Amino acid sequence: MRKRRGSLVVFHIAASNDLTGIKDSLIEIPRKSDSICPSNLNPADVDVCPEMRLMEELRTIPSGRISLQGNWENKYSEIDDLTHLRPLSTAAVLTCLKRRYAVDRFYTHAGNTLIAINPFKSMPHLYDERAIACHQQCKDVKKMAPHVFSVAATMYRALKRGVGTTAQSVIISGESGAGKTVSTRHVMKYLVTVAEKGQSSSRRSLGSRIEQRILSCNPILEAFGNAATARNRNSSRFGKYIQLHFDRCGAVGGASIQTYLLEKTRVVCRCADESNFHIFYQMLAGCDSATLKQLCLSASEETPTGGSTEFRIADTNRRCTELHLCTASQLLGVDASKLEGTFTHRTITASHSRRRSIFYKPCSVSEARDRLDCLSKVIYSRLFHWLVDFINSHLKGQHETDKTIGILDIYGFESFAVNSLEQLCINYANERLQQHFVTHFLRDLQEEYIREAIPWNFTEFVDNRPCLDLLECNPGLFALLNEECHLNRPSNSSVLSECIMSALGGSTSKVLGRPQRRSMDGPCFTVKHYASSVTYLVDGLVDKNKDNVPYELTELLRQSSNEFIGQLFAEETTEAPGRKKKTVLAKFKSSLDSLMVALNATQPHYIRCIKPNVLSQPSDFNGAFVLSQLEACGVLETVNICKQTFPSKILYEDFLQQYSVILRARRHGNIDQYCDANKENEMLIEPLEALYRKQLNLTPRRKSVTPKRKLRRRAA
Ligand code: ADP
Ligand code: MG
Repeated sequence: MRKRRGSLVVFHIAASNDLTGIKDSLIEIPRKSDSICPSNLNPADVDVCPEMRLMEELRTIPSGRISLQGNWENKYSEIDDLTHLRPLSTAAVLTCLKRRYAVDRFYTHAGNTLIAINPFKSMPHLYDERAIACHQQCKDVKKMAPHVFSVAATMYRALKRGVGTTAQSVIISGESGAGKTVSTRHVMKYLVTVAEKGQSSSRRSLGSRIEQRILSCNPILEAFGNAATARNRNSSRFGKYIQLHFDRCGAVGGASIQTYLLEKTRVVCRCADESNFHIFYQMLAGCDSATLKQLCLSASEETPTGGSTEFRIADTNRRCTELHLCTASQLLGVDASKLEGTFTHRTITASHSRRRSIFYKPCSVSEARDRLDCLSKVIYSRLFHWLVDFINSHLKGQHETDKTIGILDIYGFESFAVNSLEQLCINYANERLQQHFVTHFLRDLQEEYIREAIPWNFTEFVDNRPCLDLLECNPGLFALLNEECHLNRPSNSSVLSECIMSALGGSTSKVLGRPQRRSMDGPCFTVKHYASSVTYLVDGLVDKNKDNVPYELTELLRQSSNEFIGQLFAEETTEAPGRKKKTVLAKFKSSLDSLMVALNATQPHYIRCIKPNVLSQPSDFNGAFVLSQLEACGVLETVNICKQTFPSKILYEDFLQQYSVILRARRHGNIDQYCDANKENEMLIEPLEALYRKQLNLTPRRKSVTPKRKLRRRAA
């Protein structure tokens, strides 16, 4: 192995000293500054700084109480990357983020992750056309201040360069209200704008249609899938993975959107201080009186807050019931009495000695209400999925390429006073994403350094695999809950709770246990997630997991005289009686499996959105609150690992393909063309020559990227 430190280029050769065929060997280019930035900050000072000691106690100090002394404020605020902090500690990280936030520097690098703290105030100049142009024109994005656009620019450049893994993805995480959806919009706007700008004017007019479509699908999706919640007035109640497809020239050729887990219960039930999906209010505010009349609505209509009150089963409200029933059946294009029948009677099919008998069993009032709620939920969720399919059909490109950029905006980790199946799914999704981060970054990267025999201090990290095993393996929580659904018997929460505890080793497990204190009414269990422990109420888990839609209900809607309603229920995804139904957990797991396959085929980038305070206020940095979010996503471990790594790595083969043009230019005496513009290219000459001296016998992977063609293209 040969290794040179101190000089600008470090590269190493595998122990055999034979380069040919070694695909894993890397050229490593070290950080430009390996010392604390800014340079006038003496690392020795940091240890004795009273500010640092104060910050260590920050958890117990309310936000805004720390007073600054001397000129520390400026120095911290200039540190763009947390890996530059010396010594690196929780306190230093928090101080740095706080100082930066105070001077409107909302973005900070944490090695390969971008930390984005929500400004909670309008900063148009940060995201305008000029900011886009700056990032687009800048030769080296790494030199620019951290920004959501720099992540987008890095992805776009990697995609266009076509070296290594071309497909890119950005995983945007954070808790509700932290700024994921806004960041997603910024990434999309950047990509679409630069892709459009890079085209000739004739191609531009062709392309801009698709680009405009991509940008305009966001408001539609948000209208149907977002709602005001206690934590975010525009909270996404579904997850989405948007994939932009690019052609060879870097123009957007198409896009696709995959959605996850729409919170359809919101249609019929929500907390008092929360609202229904935006579309209901937009419709009431925006429809003209004729349309409202056609829909039997008035502008002052209210959407239900909890449980169905429109249809009342009690006889005293018979007239009211009839009126609403009549309206609903008219709008749905079905017979009123048949509709009523689906709420009030359950169909039971019994088979005996080759004969099938059908019985109708009257429903209790609460069962009838559940059936009505079920109707609203199933119509809304099918409408939403129809809308997504419709949008996808209009964004579809002509050719699928491997040049894609995926943007994942999925709900953040949730822990409420009462947690149910929705939270279990959301937290499971976050566990999967964390595992992706752990395997792709925290584990694989360290193992790669060890494999490549680069001196390395292994940083311990929290692997969330045990929690994932508890949830998704067999035996595991999902398997147990799914089995309970398939048994099709009335489920008893206490028995199920005990069953979960005994089958999954609740008394000895490190990730499953009984709640420390009684916080919910009824049996519950606690899962130790990577972010924090969450207690789930057993009651309702099985029913929600079944998500039964009465067969007679969907059958009735399938026969609707309203063409659109009929279409929503046409291809019968509805389960006929007796068929084993896929549970919510099973469906969700398989959609996440596909997502992970898609993400694994990409070069991932990470944006961790942070909420600076609980009340969503500008200029308020609550240290303890921020710290809990940083800890939850393992930012400190990330910084610790990134601090030791080289920021760039590239396979020998790709390195030669990409940079051998410099050697050729040097031989032809016009090296200045490259090195004047970019001094860093000088440092590449030595390893390039070394590689050539070794007479690498590498076959170019693609014709289009051979140095000769590249040189010719550049000359043209
Ligand atoms: P999340 O998707 O993480 O739940 P959002 O992206 O919806 O959160 O952001 C919540 C709110 O925070 C937004 O409605 C907006 O008011 C504010 N916000 C988020 N990002 C920014 C930003 N970059 N600049 C200004 N305000 C922002
Ligand atoms: Mg959102």
